[in-house]
Amino acid sequence: MASENADSVVIEGLSLAYDTTDVLKGIDLRIEPGELFTFLGPSGSGKSTLLRCVAGFGPTPRGRILIGEHEVTHLPPWRRNVGMVFQSYALWPHMTVYRNVAFGLEERRVPSAEIPRRVEAALDMVGLWELADRRPSQLSGGQQQRVALARTIIVEPRVLLLDEPLSNLDANLRVQMRREILELQRKLKLTTIFVTHDQEEANTISDRIAVLDEGILQQVGSPMDLYDSPVNRFVADFLGTAN
Ligand code: ADP
Ligand code: MG
Repeated sequence: MASENADSVVIEGLSLAYDTTDVLKGIDLRIEPGELFTFLGPSGSGKSTLLRCVAGFGPTPRGRILIGEHEVTHLPPWRRNVGMVFQSYALWPHMTVYRNVAFGLEERRVPSAEIPRRVEAALDMVGLWELADRRPSQLSGGQQQRVALARTIIVEPRVLLLDEPLSNLDANLRVQMRREILELQRKLKLTTIFVTHDQEEANTISDRIAVLDEGILQQVGSPMDLYDSPVNRFVADFLGTAN
């Protein structure tokens, strides 16, 4: 599954406290290049905090984070080669779809002759090229999410971070977008960390899942491993809960 444009992500002894509350408690993880890896856990378990640590947002944690060969623990987000899609897509409302997607390239001083081709390729990848002239308010929730994805992949991150990207969508669209994200990830062979509290979503999309509860990693394994051999009651109950 490894590919030359994918990096591993290694997390060693990662801990983080807000004030006196420990939110992450000694997380150790290795995510393989090209893997679709999911952080699964109930609300408040620390999934977003852990993802933000990988992205470089928020306070510096204790421990180490490596992306590929490089330790990034103390690097700002823009030096980590990661791309993040948030739950709220955070598109620029006053810009067209095209400009929203082109913006990251302009900001990085990519030669302007290169930009149209790359925007077209990124929007094609998510099936939205024909809507390039619209504004976000003229798009459905699913289309806005696709723009957010295009905007993130266009800068060619080496790791894609998705924080509950489907939670604002209705049930049918969620299933469809799940499939689209999986196809996109397979096509790009990008190391991807996907965050969700939905065990069914995790099971259908993931190569492997890390189950989090109260800032502690409960178990890491394939959907099958977790289903067949949960290490404790929490994992068994959480994965057993149909939602
Ligand atoms: P999840 O994404 O799994 O729902 P979070 O990572 O958002 O969980 O939150 C984990 C815990 O950290 C929660 O108890 C939350 O209230 C707390 N927390 C998150 N962000 C902050 C913050 N900026 N300041 C203080 N506490 C926070
Ligand atoms: Mg969260």
